[in-house]
Amino acid sequence: MKPASKSSSYIDTLCIGFGPAGLALACVFDEKFAAKGGRVKRGFLALEKALTSAWHPNLLLTNTDINHHVYRDLVTPRNPQSPYSFAMYLKEKNRLYKFGLLGRPASRFEWSDYMGWVAKKLEGYVQYASAVTGIEPIEEEGELVGFQVEGEGFSYHTRKLVLSNGSSPKIPEAYREHLGSHVFHASEYLDRLKAFAGDIPKRWLVLGSGQSAGEVIADLIGKKDDIHVVSLHRSIGFKVAQLGQFPNLVFLPENIEYFKGLEPEGRDRFFNHVKSTNYSGIDVDESQHLYSLIYEDEVIGRERLKMAVNSQLLSLEKVQQGYQVIVRDTFTGALTEYEVDAIALGTGYEQSAVPALLGQLEAFLEKDAEGHLVVDSQYQVQLRNSDGVQLYVNGLSERTHGISDAQSFSAVAFRAGIIHESMQANAVIPVDFSI
Ligand SMILES: Cc1cc2nc3c(=O)[nH]c(=O)nc-3n(C[C@H](O)[C@H](O)[C@H](O)COP(=O)(O)OP(=O)(O)OC[C@H]3O[C@@H](n4cnc5c(N)ncnc54)[C@H](O)[C@@H]3O)c2cc1C
Repeated sequence: MKPASKSSSYIDTLCIGFGPAGLALACVFDEKFAAKGGRVKRGFLALEKALTSAWHPNLLLTNTDINHHVYRDLVTPRNPQSPYSFAMYLKEKNRLYKFGLLGRPASRFEWSDYMGWVAKKLEGYVQYASAVTGIEPIEEEGELVGFQVEGEGFSYHTRKLVLSNGSSPKIPEAYREHLGSHVFHASEYLDRLKAFAGDIPKRWLVLGSGQSAGEVIADLIGKKDDIHVVSLHRSIGFKVAQLGQFPNLVFLPENIEYFKGLEPEGRDRFFNHVKSTNYSGIDVDESQHLYSLIYEDEVIGRERLKMAVNSQLLSLEKVQQGYQVIVRDTFTGALTEYEVDAIALGTGYEQSAVPALLGQLEAFLEKDAEGHLVVDSQYQVQLRNSDGVQLYVNGLSERTHGISDAQSFSAVAFRAGIIHESMQANAVIPVDFSI
């Protein structure tokens, strides 16, 4: 028997992460709470490692905007009458009419401000500066009866746990040993840049063909005239993301249902058909901007952005002056060498077969033939040898629910509703089982 720790507090529903997915879930809890006139216990706590709920703060760059419709906010697709909609935010900020005249999507600054506005209203549901470092099983006679959730300076136990901690930055193997102040993932971009305190390296390699890579390049080159960037691509260069209406129908809830019903081989095929709607593509305006930059530089006889396309990294070495990078043309085999001072990895995000946070629960996790978590249609992780516990993934189910269900706003609102409903339907007796 491995009981809950004596020094830990019991929370009915514990959520890890208070980004969009965690916020959307807290909205559901709060709406239910309000509907009962506040006469029930809140019973929900989110643990968030950051100090605020700012949305991808390290990539809050000027001239960036959201790539989804503002109706796909934290609540509207689930409950258009919610007090936490983007429209309510605009109304309270007195910008409802002005926003209508913008004629373009909301900026990422405004969307992040909206997240912060909701988070402020829900501050009773969150504990910031609380990075969860481990989840231990609480056992009774070999059965999993609860989760002990730990981090520096806090310890909670619960029977209902929701992982809303987002996808993880994808770091190609060859770059791992060099990670640090001068080699980093785009998700650290603004913090790393700030640390240079104005003395920004001049020669950069930026890896990747997606939105973050393009934005980092544009931002770097906009910083100073003497910054040079090599933009490394396995493919032909930046492609425009698939924006057509028809492929984007994949983001409709009914297409999530369709996807869930497919066999694994069909899911892979379907995913490949539609992935250009969300991955490895940039906006039309960004493509225009980067192309124009190269073109106009050529007119005046300079080169700040070098496109290294159809290229694969052959070797990366730390040298006295920076990093020596050798790439190979994937068609001709020709080698090219670059020397750079810093490297930004715009290599996107990934979802592992089993989220790292679940490592200590390994013995209780059901796995599919390929070693992935088994997640049911209500986002509940299937557990073995367990009694009265519920574990959900909120934003980590791309494999089972498809492209729109993770790493996008499309499903954030209604997924929160489904998880809440599933929790109620499978309600377990709320007991504090610490001894
Ligand atoms: C730059 C950028 C722009 C994007 N633009 C769009 C867009 O325009 N439209 C769209 O639909 N999608 C966009 N996306 C996709 C994006 O993933 C989703 O919009 C959304 O952020 C997903 O929300 P989430 O809560 O699942 O994950 P995240 O936003 O990653 O939030 C996870 C939260 O969990 C916290 N956390 C992580 N680990 C722990 C831990 N161990 N303990 C405690 N807290 C933890 C994090 O600090 C974070 O606050 C964009 C992504 C990026 C990177």
